[in-house]
Formats: sequence, C-alpha cells, structure tokens
Amino acid sequence: MTGHATPLRLGLLEGDGIGPEIVPAAVAVVDAALAATGATPVDWVPLPLGRSAIDTHGSPIPASTLDALAETDAWLLGPHDSAAYPEPYRSQLNPSGTIRKHFGLFANIRPAKAFEGAKAIVPGTDLVIVRENTQGFYADRNTFAGTGEFMPDANTAIAMGIITRDAVEKIARSAFELARSRRGKLTIVHKANVLRLTTGLFRDVCREIGQEFPEVEVDDFHIDAMTVHLVRRADAFDVIVTENMFGDILSDLAGEIAGSLGIAPSINASLDRAMAQASHGSAPDIAGRDIANPIAMILSAAMLLQWLGAKRDDAALIKAAEVIEAGVEGTVANGVVTPDMGGHVSTSGFGRAVAKTISGS
Ligand code: ATP
Repeated sequence: MTGHATPLRLGLLEGDGIGPEIVPAAVAVVDAALAATGATPVDWVPLPLGRSAIDTHGSPIPASTLDALAETDAWLLGPHDSAAYPEPYRSQLNPSGTIRKHFGLFANIRPAKAFEGAKAIVPGTDLVIVRENTQGFYADRNTFAGTGEFMPDANTAIAMGIITRDAVEKIARSAFELARSRRGKLTIVHKANVLRLTTGLFRDVCREIGQEFPEVEVDDFHIDAMTVHLVRRADAFDVIVTENMFGDILSDLAGEIAGSLGIAPSINASLDRAMAQASHGSAPDIAGRDIANPIAMILSAAMLLQWLGAKRDDAALIKAAEVIEAGVEGTVANGVVTPDMGGHVSTSGFGRAVAKTISGS
C-alpha cells in the first residue's frame, strides 16, 4: 500500500535552545522527501512545550499539549533546557520524561552510525543502543507521585532505582527483534558486579528472552568496561540493550564516536506510539547562532517515518525515510557539514542542502 489518502497528523514541539533551529530544518526535509516520493504531505500540528510554554500556559508541558498529542499519529520533539527553568518547574519531571511516561514510550532506540568519508573516532561504527525508558536509575521516572529523589536532611540525598521483570522483558524483546533484523548480535550492558540485584535482574531477564532468539548471538559487559570497548572498537557492536541511565550516557558517547553528538538520532516508542527526538540536548552554548547540526533531528524524523511506514504497511513512508537518509549521506559526502563536523555550513543551510538533494533526486 502507498500514499495514505488522509494526511498524517504529526505533532511539532520545537522546545528550547537549538530546538527552534533544528526542528524546522527537519520539517523542511520531511516535506521535501514526501513530495519526492509522491506520499501525501504531512499535516503538521505545532504545540507549545518548553520555556515559552511556561509563560503562555503556566507549564513546560501543558496538559493541552498532551491531549493534543494523543490525537496525532506521532510527533517530533525538539530538545528542552529544563535545567534552566525557574522553580518549581526545574524540580519537576522534565518534558520528555513526562511525555515518555504519559504515553508509555518504553523503548528509546538510538542508532550511532558513522558517515562514509566524514571524520569519526571509530570509522565504520554502525550500532543501535536500545535504552529502557521508563525506570532504571533515573529516579524521576520511578514513582506514581513525587520524583524518586528525596532529602531526609539538608546533607543527605537519596535516589531510587527500579528494575522490573516486565519492563526488561519488553525492552529485551524489542532489542532482540532489532538485532535479528540487523547483523544478529546483541550486547547486554549492566553493572551486575556491584548493582547485583537490579542490573543483575536486567542482565538475567535479557538472557532469558534471548532463548526465544537462538539466531542472535549474545554477550554482555559492565557499563564501565563498555565505555572502553566503544572507544576502541565501536565498529564491532550491533545492538546494545541497557537500562535508562546507562543508555543515556552510552548513547552520547556512541554518537560522538561515530562523528558528532549532533548526528545521533532516536525515536521513543511503545507498541502503538512513537516520538522522534534527537539523542542530544538543547545545547544552550550554541543556541540562536544557526550553527547546530540538524542531522540528529532530521534522521530522527526519518526513523519516525520508517516506524509509521512499518506500522501502517505504507511503502511510500518507508521510501521517504530512505530518501532522507540518502539525502543526508549525499550532502555530508559533498563536504556540506556544520562546524561540529569540521565544516562551515549553517543549520538552515544544511537543511536546505538536504531538501535540494532530495528534490533533485
Ligand atoms: P541535556 O542535559 O539536555 O542532555 P547537555 O547540555 O548536558 O543537555 P547537550 O545539549 O546534548 O548536553 O550538549 C552537549 C555538548 O554537545 C555541547 O557542547 C553542545 O553544544 C554539543 N551539541 C549537542 N547537540 C549538538 C548539535 N546538534 N550540534 C552541534 N553540537 C551539539
């Protein structure tokens, strides 16, 4: 089946920092790709989120935004700079955490792939980190009310980590299915020599689920050792599954090893909903200068189209995702790159160059 008669409704949350620069670049590229492949254009639904929403709606993630997202097919989320919000918002669960929790987006899929011909710490890196998104050692995800962090007195702070069999089974299945569709290798990352019960359960349940996937080769490493293995030989890994905090840290490292944190995309997904979100944060140090790399956001949007295409059996959307990837790769191969990759091209200039490559293809 190709080209839905009714347009996709995709939410658009620009967020803070470099968000208002990289999200429009991704929109321009998606529009160009859908036009080039003959797919029905997207009906974009801009929604308030982040610092500006505090001023207009009294919350960085207004209830009206969550309600409106529920009515969309999927959405693009820009980064947020929640560390800079005034209290009480700074201490609350941040906007992307809130959205992930609200919609049960348990899988954060974060590829790190080096571009041919571009600089990379480990050229040939082509791996995917599958990060459990709903619990683990990010205490703010772990409670029905409150944040899972508390201070019994002014000089004592306690954080709660949680690992449950149910959540590990779900993320492990997603990771094994992905590994089966790629090079058939899965690495479990944990710290079961110290966090014996919690990350030990994570490792053991992943191994159990592995019994259902005999064609996938499995190994496991401690998180600290894994940082060394990635720097030395990231090109040897295929799919990596880990808990929330380890996955967050490891995916920044993997992105930079593959060339730049600015090229690392991701989607957050449940079985029936998905959100595109770059792996990096709001980069306030470079915001407003039109120098941020929009590749991560653009490729996150491509992952979202791929996810929607697979879910709806819509070949036009899958084709559009492929066209975007090829357009980004072709643009980078021509030396058109932003400063973090050693070039001089602006954020908006890069987006235009990819859209032009796609339209001409
Ligand atoms: P968060 O807590 O939201 O992850 P952070 O400040 O800890 O935010 P990032 O915002 O991801 O982390 O930034 C880390 C570094 O990477 C900064 O120096 C930033 O400028 C750089 N960086 C992040 N994203 C990009 C990008 N798209 N293009 C270029 N540089 C980027």
